[in-house]
Amino acid sequence: MSKSWDILQPVQRQIQLAMVLSGTSAVFGLAALALLGLVLGQLMQHPHVWPWLAMTLAFISLAASLLLRLSAFNQSHYAAFRLETILRTDMAQHLAQVSLGDIQQFGAGALSKVMQDDIKALHIFVADSTPMYARAMVAPICTLLILVWLDWRLASGAVAVLLLGVGVLGLAMRNSGQMQCRYNAARERVSAAIVEFVQAMPVVRTFDTGHTTFSRYQQALESYQEILTDWYRQAGFPTRYAFVVLNPLPTLIVLLGLGGWLGAQGTLNFATWAAVLLLGAGMAESVMPLMSLHHLVARAKLSVGRIQQVMALPILPIPIESRQPSSSAIDFEGVSFGHGAYPQSKGELVLHDVTFHAAPGTVTALVGPSGAGKSTIARLIPRFWDVDAGCIRIGGVDIRDMTTETLMAQVAFVFQESFLLADSVANNIRMGRPDATMEEVVAAARAAQAHNFIQSLPEGYDTQVGERGGLISGGQRQRITIARAILQNRPILVLDEPTAFADPENEAALMKALSVLMRGRTVILVTHRFATIRSAHQILVFDQGQLVERGQHDDLVNQSGIYAWLWSRHEKAQNWALKRRPVVSENGGE
Ligand code: ADP
Repeated sequence: MSKSWDILQPVQRQIQLAMVLSGTSAVFGLAALALLGLVLGQLMQHPHVWPWLAMTLAFISLAASLLLRLSAFNQSHYAAFRLETILRTDMAQHLAQVSLGDIQQFGAGALSKVMQDDIKALHIFVADSTPMYARAMVAPICTLLILVWLDWRLASGAVAVLLLGVGVLGLAMRNSGQMQCRYNAARERVSAAIVEFVQAMPVVRTFDTGHTTFSRYQQALESYQEILTDWYRQAGFPTRYAFVVLNPLPTLIVLLGLGGWLGAQGTLNFATWAAVLLLGAGMAESVMPLMSLHHLVARAKLSVGRIQQVMALPILPIPIESRQPSSSAIDFEGVSFGHGAYPQSKGELVLHDVTFHAAPGTVTALVGPSGAGKSTIARLIPRFWDVDAGCIRIGGVDIRDMTTETLMAQVAFVFQESFLLADSVANNIRMGRPDATMEEVVAAARAAQAHNFIQSLPEGYDTQVGERGGLISGGQRQRITIARAILQNRPILVLDEPTAFADPENEAALMKALSVLMRGRTVILVTHRFATIRSAHQILVFDQGQLVERGQHDDLVNQSGIYAWLWSRHEKAQNWALKRRPVVSENGGE
């Protein structure tokens, strides 16, 4: 087995067993045919003598062939189920140790596609194709051996037809490897274009009437179609020709003609001729499955490649024993960080030597122009990635000395993109505290200003949400994640633009929910809302990955730095908005 099949290692023996059973079944099937041929020949020569022995043997061979075939598929299906379970478990265990940053980079959609589709594809391949493969290899070779043993002259005739068919088939599949690659690449481009087209729909509808993304989608489709037509044109004629040659009829005609001639010369007895006719007819045809198997193997290899890509994602070193933090204070000490492996990324650090202290129970707001590194700071605290230099401490303990459970017991996070599981609203709120009672869930939802809208959903707390939670708006989804964070009740809270996708109607309710959530916790908050920033205990201003200013609102406004500039810009925008829209109301709460 080549390296890419290493993934089948855990069930290798069972697959081998299935293949041996299937191959043996093919041999018995052929033996049954050969024996039937002999029976037929003997009956023609001596019509009144029943060849009992040969008939019994033929019947036993047939029964054995069927039984072996059945157990071959049994084995391969068991192997497939076992492999599926093993791969899913291994992958889940592996992903649990991969940094959240890498998982995010890989993309939740792509990951779930690998976990669902590719593992399923491999299941189907192992269950159905491996016994077929053994059969397609064994059947033609055994037929040939029996034919040679029966009569080498007739065998040569059958082989000549087979070689002709295989030759034409080879011609048809000449560029199939290269074509397959082009075809797969085109198919992936179409998938990507579909995803882009659907995802961009809100933007498309608002701004560009859909021309750009739609034309990209159309282009991808056109090139896909072109490749398919090309392939068909190149392979179409030889393939159909090969089908004509490899079907039983041409071999039968050759064997009939040749046998008749040899019989007339008296050098071939009828029993042998009958056996050869029965066996030989199927020889060329038994090669045919190899063609479809060729594609199945290529497809399975692609799935294996993607599974291996996921399993190759590096894992975070996590200690076996955890050190317990003594408080909810957060300390960044000389933290430098770049995306990508250090030290290769040295030139592209996104954070440079960042040091700050966030005291327990205080709110620290991170401010600065876009791309300054604020979100990166927020994500380093729940260990989306590890720092390249310096360290991050919670309650005096380096977060790398904590187990995932200990760290997650400290930190809750709410980011721009609210993540909901494909489950009920109640279970989404319960995530992280599965033992919470319904009363606790409702209390958390009330505190998160979510209770009323949840009750107005068709099935209330039992309404199914998730990726397609179309009934629920962005701001409402965010309030569900806030209810979750309230229920989790962890001492540290990391918020990254939690109000980014809220419509004005939802924003007031969202702010109220957040203020409940923030109460008494150590909060690290990335936001553009000056109303919130102003009341922070500490404001940290970042520019190009460096901490350039720190203090409280009034102090910072009086310095002529970046904060003062951002503030004046905000003030101007406010005045402008006030002039344009004299009545500004912030309603919409619950
Ligand atoms: P901010 O939150 O201040 O807008 P970010 O922390 O999101 O800034 O980004 C800081 C820098 O890191 C940017 O230059 C951004 O392009 C880069 N960056 C952010 N996330 C990734 C990522 N997953 N991979 C590579 N670069 C990233």
